Amino acid sequence: MIEHVRPAARRPSVAVRVGQVRVGGDAPVVVQSMTNTDTADVVATAKQVAELARAGSELVRITVNTPEAAAAVPRIRERLDMMGVDVPLVGDFHYNGHQLLAQEPACAETLAKYRINPGNVGFGKKKDAQFAAIIDIALRHAKPVRIGANWGSLDQAMVAALMDENHARAEPWDAAHVAREALIRSALDSARRAEELGMPRERIILSCKVSGVQELIAVYRDLAARCDYALHLGLTEAGMGSKGIVASTAALAVLLQEGIGDTIRISLTPEPGESRTREVVVAQELLQTMGLRAFTPLVTACPGCGRTTSTLFQELAKTVQEHVRAKMPEWRVKYDGVENLTLAVMGCVVNGPGESKHADIGISLPGTGEAPAAPVFIDGQKAQTLRGDNIAQEFVAIVEDYVARKYVARGG
Ligand code: SF4
Repeated sequence: MIEHVRPAARRPSVAVRVGQVRVGGDAPVVVQSMTNTDTADVVATAKQVAELARAGSELVRITVNTPEAAAAVPRIRERLDMMGVDVPLVGDFHYNGHQLLAQEPACAETLAKYRINPGNVGFGKKKDAQFAAIIDIALRHAKPVRIGANWGSLDQAMVAALMDENHARAEPWDAAHVAREALIRSALDSARRAEELGMPRERIILSCKVSGVQELIAVYRDLAARCDYALHLGLTEAGMGSKGIVASTAALAVLLQEGIGDTIRISLTPEPGESRTREVVVAQELLQTMGLRAFTPLVTACPGCGRTTSTLFQELAKTVQEHVRAKMPEWRVKYDGVENLTLAVMGCVVNGPGESKHADIGISLPGTGEAPAAPVFIDGQKAQTLRGDNIAQEFVAIVEDYVARKYVARGG
């Protein structure tokens, strides 16, 4: 009998409410993303937030870096509401967050959460006062905060203090260990300070982002063992294309498998002309392929080899994947559980029928030298055979028919 490998139980964490979205506790792992538009540009930012939300981002973070950006936040919200997009907006603050939030109360009220980087709140004696000012505003507006430490903006005073502490050790840590400790302490000390200022634990989320896979795993294992705050996971500056996807997935998959992480972001640098929504799709696919959540029907496809000379099955796999993703906004509203549908598109008889039988609906295309026929399997049984030039359209129609028959209409 096959014993399925399953993720460890989720690490217990304090549940936090961000607008209408629950993070931590027993809530599913939440997908979030961030815009790259100028927030002062209301139209462009609202458009991108809507794209990210429609792709499946459950929280969207926007940069709030200038008075113009802060003033734009309520207008972005209004525009989104008019578009029927209710995704909570998170404000990302560095250096001047205390001023912007104080000067624009409507911005402070509109945002569902404030992200504070403890390394960039302020310098020297001003740091504590500016941090306290942001917490005070968050308390007045009953907003949660994410205290997000980052490898690239570590509090240098803390690093220096930890270096001194380390020199006094009988067996000093190496420099990487000291840097990890600085990152974790920066987040934990700031969270403790926020609590001292009156912020409830139910309104604090922590993150400690680094850009190396092994460092991220080490940091979060340690952080998770030392607190029960809800944790946001992400590999910062993951990079572009496959490198960014692989690095993020390698790091986050290990942690998620260990039950660590309440919300995730994949920090991809878009290729020129590429949609920002790629990071949302990758985050969803990571959670879904790990069996942690289901968002959209997944298509299993073989890689193809010398047994198939046509590109028909590649095109069919692409057509089917794009079709189900495009239909999901409609299906999600109409059909309960349709995100669990599994499909298989296979290139030849070697693994085609077997893999197709494991899916809800599968098709095995003819390989080189095989009869020009494509058997279709539904719920493990051969249901019909497709031939000719319209296999893609006919297969998509079979999928549509199956969805309408199998999944109960919501509210029906
Ligand atoms: S199913 Fe057939 S075409 Fe696809 S990889 Fe396997 S042998 Fe090659």
